Amino acid sequence: MSNYDDNNIFAKILRGEIPAIKVYEDEKTLAFMDIMPQAKGHTLVIPKAKAVTLLDLPADDASYTIQIVQKVAQAIKQALEVEGIVLMQLSGEAAGQTVPHVHFHLIPSSVHDLGKHSSKMGDMTEIQAISEQIKAHIR
Ligand code: 5GP
Repeated sequence: MSNYDDNNIFAKILRGEIPAIKVYEDEKTLAFMDIMPQAKGHTLVIPKAKAVTLLDLPADDASYTIQIVQKVAQAIKQALEVEGIVLMQLSGEAAGQTVPHVHFHLIPSSVHDLGKHSSKMGDMTEIQAISEQIKAHIR
């Protein structure tokens, strides 16, 4: 069980202390746009439960969150008219995880085209516009 840091960036987003471009929220999960996207439409889904990695997440939260991952993936597919979405989940720094709150990446791309993670902010106007498209397709 990893120690949870209440000051991680996603905990701050969940508390509303820093802004996020949200596409879906309910009592247990939040989906929002990645601000350094690896492809257009790169979205993150997180459980609200305090867990660092997938292995720390209670099974009920894990199964609920994957249902929301599916819901958001469906919306991305329809909104952006893409055929494929890479679903990525890094558990542990050793795997490359940089934000210590469990999250699922939904990246409309091919695994063969994914480069190393960008460290540059994306075009926020474009990210905002894509988020509106995705939001409109959430069912
Ligand atoms: P990891 O490398 O931990 O699997 O992924 C962390 C992700 O969070 C990265 O894709 C990174 O771009 C994203 N990220 C980091 N800081 C922020 C932030 O302040 N807001 C949002 N929306 N995404 C962030």
